[in-house]
Amino acid sequence: MVNSNLDKIVEANSSKFGHGLILSIGLICACVTTALLIQNANATANRVVQYQSSNPILVSVATLPDTLTRTVLPDEQPTWHQVKVKDGDTLAQIFDRLNIPRSQINQLLRLDKKTKRLLTRLAPGQFLALKVHGHSLQELVYKMNPLETLRIERNDQSELIVKKLEREYDRRNRYAEAKINNSLFESGQQVGISDSVTMDMAHIFGWDIDFALDIREGDTYNLLYEELYLDGKKVRDGNILAASFTTQGKTYEAIRYTDASGQSDYYTPDGRSMRKAFLRTPVDFTRISSRFGRRHHPILKKRKAHKGVDYAAPRGTPVRASGDGKIVHRGRRGGYGKTVIIQHGSSYSTLYAHLNSYVLKLGTGKRVKQGQVIGFVGSTGRATGPHLHYEFRVNGQHRDPLRVKLPQAQPISAAYKDDFMLKSKQLLALLDQQKLPKYALSTQE
Ligand SMILES: [Zn+2]
Repeated sequence: MVNSNLDKIVEANSSKFGHGLILSIGLICACVTTALLIQNANATANRVVQYQSSNPILVSVATLPDTLTRTVLPDEQPTWHQVKVKDGDTLAQIFDRLNIPRSQINQLLRLDKKTKRLLTRLAPGQFLALKVHGHSLQELVYKMNPLETLRIERNDQSELIVKKLEREYDRRNRYAEAKINNSLFESGQQVGISDSVTMDMAHIFGWDIDFALDIREGDTYNLLYEELYLDGKKVRDGNILAASFTTQGKTYEAIRYTDASGQSDYYTPDGRSMRKAFLRTPVDFTRISSRFGRRHHPILKKRKAHKGVDYAAPRGTPVRASGDGKIVHRGRRGGYGKTVIIQHGSSYSTLYAHLNSYVLKLGTGKRVKQGQVIGFVGSTGRATGPHLHYEFRVNGQHRDPLRVKLPQAQPISAAYKDDFMLKSKQLLALLDQQKLPKYALSTQE
């Protein structure tokens, strides 16, 4: 591997802790060895090695013997090098630039599997710091992300010891409340709620509220959620801890609870799961909600005699199985066009019509999980434009998918019930305390 671009080679960002001098390393040429040897002979107190980019003699690094180690002088201090990982950089290239024999990479890669994986997949833009004494790697520090740092040190027996340092975010709670005037996302943005938090909220309440069709102007919500800080700076938003959403006069509340085993989920204040055996909306509502907010709800095409709900959505929008079940029909069915029917247990079935196409591997007889994509929105059969026609049947009877009472997932387990109730009360109290008085919200336009 010959590096002919000299300027490029001198990348090892010269950060030095031991000496105050800059050491530019990287140019590997025949004279390097000589230069170092001469320097050793001179026993200069500070090693300053600068290479001219005009140096004509270049040799392949691979040809340098691994025995390129020299006697470390008694007064010689180890040097730290800070290296920014470039696109396509490998540890070997970095070691070559720092003139560390490749045999030492092998030693690194013989450490545990996880370390090996980390070191063989360096992320461009991240920093590596290497402490080199002579040609011997003494310490390697790799900051993988803001929270995790890998540290490998050579001990007195010349063995490499791996340590992983982990930091934690400083979690701060933020309270926010909003009223929907135009779109769900806009209402959040107006009070500083990021789209990702709005999306999380929609997922929490998505089992009860159809965010594509149910929400109305004047609906309100409030949230208590975490913001994650590191060294005093906000990194990103964390989890929603408690939330309430009021739509068309009905209020839904959700509490996040993490049990002793580390499992987190959302529950109603009295411990019932927020999750249901069925999704309320079988299409990605974000694709639809962009249309929400016009005076005449253009997507609300529910007809009285209609046996289901229509979701107008761009052609190709993924359609998801609303619950776990088995595909009992896949194929054309008269005016329904390309249709999928899923049977869920003995009493429930759902139907998805006018599909543009199916997910190939999911044919009749295949089992599907809740939320799994089964096909894509289209306009096959009798349809004026691309939309999903969705039907929900209980014991063969059509039910309004928007209103039907859905069976719930498991409630909070008995073992955690007391602890949950305590935390639930605390969180709801926190949420309530901050709530603006009713009149303040209703006059806020
Ligand atoms: Zn329809």
